[in-house]
Amino acid sequence: MRTIELSPRLHLIGFDFGQAYLWRDADSLTLIDTGTVGSGEVIAEAIRGLGLVPGDLDRVVLTHAHEDHAGAAAEVEAWPGVTVIAHRLDVPVVRGESTAAAPVFDGAPEWERELYANKPALPPAPPARVARELEDDEVLDFGGGARVIGVPGHTAGSIALHLPESGVLFTGDAVANVGGRTTLGVFNTERARAVASLRRLAELDVETACFGHGEPITRGASVALRDAAAAHVAGG
Ligand SMILES: [Zn+2]
Repeated sequence: MRTIELSPRLHLIGFDFGQAYLWRDADSLTLIDTGTVGSGEVIAEAIRGLGLVPGDLDRVVLTHAHEDHAGAAAEVEAWPGVTVIAHRLDVPVVRGESTAAAPVFDGAPEWERELYANKPALPPAPPARVARELEDDEVLDFGGGARVIGVPGHTAGSIALHLPESGVLFTGDAVANVGGRTTLGVFNTERARAVASLRRLAELDVETACFGHGEPITRGASVALRDAAAAHVAGG
C-alpha cells in the first residue's frame, strides 16, 4: 500500500490494483471508492495513519459500481456508523441485484479492446448495503459541499464529485491519467455519452483532479481536462 498526502485534507490510498481517496473535514471523514475485495484492512491502515480509527469514517461515496471501486464497500460498510452512497442507476449492481453491463467498444481504439482482453480478472464485489441513492446535482455534506455530477457512459450511474471550495474533482473512471496522459476513461458502456461527460467535466474550474486510475493532478488540472476533451471530435 502507499498513502500519499495530496493536501492536508486529501489522501490517496493506492492498492495493488486501483485506488481510493480519503477526504478529511474537521468533523467528518469521507472515503471515495474502496478498491477491490479485501481492501478494507488497507483502508483501515490508511485511516490509522491519519491518527484516526476506522470507526471515524462517516461515509463512502462510490463513483460507480465496478469491482475495483466498490469491491470493499461491504467490508467498510460493516464498520460502525459508515454510510454507503452511490448513484441510483448503479445501486442495483452495488446491492448485487444485477450485474454490471459489459463495455461496448464501438468507436473505441483497437488498443482499448486489447487492454480489456488482457486485463487482470478481478473478484466480483460482494453485495453491499447502500443507505443513500444519489441523483445528479445533489450536494453532499463534506468538503464544504460536494456536488454530484452525473457522468454516464463508463457506467449508467457513474458520478464525479466536485468540491468548488477547494477546487477538487474526483472523476471516477470518466477520466484517467495513466502514464502522464489525461484521457477519456476506458471500457465504457456508452462511449458517446462518456465523451459528453468528459466535456462536462472540462468546463469545471478544477485545481486538483483525482482519477480512478493514474496519478492525481494537484495543480491547474482544468488544463489537462480541457485537452482531454478536445481530443474527441463530436461523437468520437
Ligand atoms: Zn470502472
